[in-house]
Amino acid sequence: MKHYFSAEMKELTETVRAFAAKELAPHADELDREERLAPGIFKKLGDLGILGITIPEEFGGANLGAKAMVSVMEELSYAEPGTCLSYLAHSLLFVHNLAQNGSKEQCDRYLPRCVTGELVSGMAMTEPGAGSDAVGMATRAVREGDYYVLNGTKMFITNGPIGDVFLVYARTGEGRQDLTTFIVESGFPGFSVSKKLSKMGMRSSPTGELVFRNCRIPVQNRVGEEGSTVKHMMKNLDIERVGLAAMSLGIARACLDHSLKYAQERNQFGESIVNFQAISEKISNMYIGYRAARALVYEAAHVVDEGRRANQEAAAAKVFASEMATKVALDAIQVLGGYGYIREFPVERLMRDAKLLEIGGGTSEILRSVIIKEFVRKTR
Ligand SMILES: Cc1cc2nc3c(=O)[nH]c(=O)nc-3n(C[C@H](O)[C@H](O)[C@H](O)COP(=O)(O)OP(=O)(O)OC[C@H]3O[C@@H](n4cnc5c(N)ncnc54)[C@H](O)[C@@H]3O)c2cc1C
Repeated sequence: MKHYFSAEMKELTETVRAFAAKELAPHADELDREERLAPGIFKKLGDLGILGITIPEEFGGANLGAKAMVSVMEELSYAEPGTCLSYLAHSLLFVHNLAQNGSKEQCDRYLPRCVTGELVSGMAMTEPGAGSDAVGMATRAVREGDYYVLNGTKMFITNGPIGDVFLVYARTGEGRQDLTTFIVESGFPGFSVSKKLSKMGMRSSPTGELVFRNCRIPVQNRVGEEGSTVKHMMKNLDIERVGLAAMSLGIARACLDHSLKYAQERNQFGESIVNFQAISEKISNMYIGYRAARALVYEAAHVVDEGRRANQEAAAAKVFASEMATKVALDAIQVLGGYGYIREFPVERLMRDAKLLEIGGGTSEILRSVIIKEFVRKTR
């Protein structure tokens, strides 16, 4: 793995690790219980210089690429996965996406304020009736002079209840792929958050349902041409999935560390439980799963950094890493025994957090089908 790590990346990783250990890890239980982010966290992440980790310097970004993004995601997720999920929705689903697909004028208008944390952002694609089949969305935008009028509902939107600005996908024609992307500010008339959703895990990250009722969007907030959304989605999907896979690495490493520490400290039958083969094997397998997933995630990030499509690599990395993290978290609970099951110890929270990563950004079932479809396409 060393060849993936520049000196700059090592320094970045250490800086983010120290930040997360101080600002996030000590508050993780409280944030989970109270279902909220730490106050002012986006401003602090902005001061750290990581909100525009992948975007060009002209918009205030760090322009460091997907591998650097992976190391940041792993460190934040190690300390507090929910905050990392909100960070991902902001820095990849909005900031990276707009930098890839928006006009210079749109980027100048929004990105510098997103990078400092003055604006919190997200992306709204999923609907109550359109999840895996996102292209089947019903939200519609109709042009009226210099505005589009948007009507519809978006479901499960990360940062929905707290966000200032969102990329919203909507139907603008009759064809299945006639979808267009809009920049929608939460202050636009007709925008509302109909509910904040209470979740099993990732509870510090605010998730909401957004409703648009005759929401008026200026034409200059249309991203690209009408009907170009599917192209935008494709451009962004790989890096988003790599980012989600990197979050799983952080969770797995945290579970491994908790398990190792506990197994060495806990005595039963007059000796440390780490000496029992059934326990040591679980911990060794955690390490093996984590290292294997890490290699896949960095390989996929490397393909993204080379500017190639990483369709299969990103799907494989996300499926493997997310399923590995859930398994590692369940095993960590087993290693801690009864203490693993109660809320004073962090592994039950990490297990709840881990599960989301098998669902969000493309479920494991869908990603396995992505891998197969790519083989079939190549064969043809
Ligand atoms: C906490 C959280 C945060 C999220 N954040 C965002 C966000 O910021 N923005 C956003 O737009 N969305 C977001 N999502 C939505 C997320 O991406 C979707 O939940 C996900 O894509 C799955 O869609 P669905 O929930 O409608 O499930 P469905 O698509 O209804 O799937 C239900 C089940 O059927 C399976 N299935 C569906 N189709 C197939 C198929 N063809 N073959 C085999 N199996 C299939 C699925 O794998 C799944 O197991 C978030 C979700 C959660 C839970």
